[in-house]
Amino acid sequence: MGVVAIVGRPNVGKSTLFNRLIQKREAIVEPTSGVTRDRHYGKANWGGVSFTVIDTGGYVANSEDIFQVEIDKQVELAIEQADVILFLVSVTDGVVAMDRDIMQLLRKERKPVLTVINKVDNHHMAQLSVEFYDMGIANYYNISSINGSGTGDLLDEVIKYLPNKEDTEDDKPKIAVVGRPNSGKSSFINTILGQDRYIVTNIAGTTRDSIESNYSKFGFDFKIVDTAGIRRKSKVKEDLEFYAVMRSIRTIEYSDICLLLVDATRGFEGQDKSIFWIAEKNNKGVVILVNKWDLMEKDTHLSKQIEETIKNQIKPFSNVPILFISVLEKQRILKALHSAIAVYENRNRRIHTKKLNEYLLPIIAKNPPPISKGKEIKIKFCMQLPTKYPQFIFFANLPQYIKEQYTRFLENKIRQAYNFEGVPVRIFFRKK
Ligand code: GDP
Ligand code: GDP
Repeated sequence: MGVVAIVGRPNVGKSTLFNRLIQKREAIVEPTSGVTRDRHYGKANWGGVSFTVIDTGGYVANSEDIFQVEIDKQVELAIEQADVILFLVSVTDGVVAMDRDIMQLLRKERKPVLTVINKVDNHHMAQLSVEFYDMGIANYYNISSINGSGTGDLLDEVIKYLPNKEDTEDDKPKIAVVGRPNSGKSSFINTILGQDRYIVTNIAGTTRDSIESNYSKFGFDFKIVDTAGIRRKSKVKEDLEFYAVMRSIRTIEYSDICLLLVDATRGFEGQDKSIFWIAEKNNKGVVILVNKWDLMEKDTHLSKQIEETIKNQIKPFSNVPILFISVLEKQRILKALHSAIAVYENRNRRIHTKKLNEYLLPIIAKNPPPISKGKEIKIKFCMQLPTKYPQFIFFANLPQYIKEQYTRFLENKIRQAYNFEGVPVRIFFRKK
């Protein structure tokens, strides 16, 4: 767990490194292809430690005449979202003015920064990297994003900065409030916490890590997780979808359940969808709250219609609660919290292995995976893994031939018998 951000001027190799770190694993299975999600954000794994990688400059075209203001925004995003920042420079260009500017910005903050010299493809290049001592960088990592050399040592260092799972373990549910700018996140949090907690305190150098507020009222006992994303929103006007979406990464990463606020007057679109998939990818529980319902014609037909539209957009993970609320008129706020807690319970649901097999094996016997390459596929046994979120493992003679469609079939059967509403369900196959 944790977030790693890559910063650097255009052309130093950020997206090449990003792709190497995430190894493009997830891009294949994603049902919808939000640009933000697939190209600039991904999950990586090193030595069993999984973490999020952000390419902060991902959306900027490879042009050298990039404006300083864009660089500032990228660095700011990295500082705000990351546990550790990879500051990328290129050995082929040496130190250029823009590298120094970024360096200056990074030095103002207390976030750990690792300087990474990229394009060190061979021994000869490694000698050139000595020039970087000029920048006052005593410690740096020589890597080649293209051939992968040096990235192992770098990752060994990176994971030292990521939070230890044990440290952040807490028995209270952690709820994040996410959504596009203006969807009503701050209003929602202020309404439930009953005070203006979210007045911006944007003093340079102050800790920008996540804040947790306790909520124990009306029989609830949970924490609201927030990061700079919401608190500082009134200071920066985000025009770009890229930043708005990326701003929710850290909050999602540190939560169990995400309340995704959608502005009813705008409908469910690109940004909402991208944020939804970040939560899904991180195995978080999700409740969709269509807010500002007071501004809509009150008519059940309309809510059904909107619900259908959203479910269509979030396929195949459409088993998600969708509620229509008004923060302004304090309508269904408690209902939303109840729903969040129900989803939290679903996420913690553990199915007894014997019961699971008694239920699923007859279904599988009746509907076995289709024969592949003339071979019969037999599933012998299954169980839920003892993890924080639902994962099921199926043992089969030829697991490699089982298709995505059959995985969905099994997932649906599991969802029909057990309540996993609002929670992504993972299914794996192993050979036995
Ligand atoms: P970004 O603008 O910082 O995201 O940079 P890109 O990842 O798009 O890379 C810019 C150019 O540098 C591309 O032509 C890459 O193929 C090249 N590049 C990236 N990493 C390396 C490397 O390790 N060695 C070499 N020789 N070229 C690289
Ligand atoms: P954030 O950017 O997601 O934190 O959104 P804010 O909480 O700042 O809300 C954006 C605007 O929407 C503000 O003007 C709020 O007063 C307004 N707003 C929030 N919730 C509602 C609601 O339920 N109904 C209406 N009509 N306006 C709302």
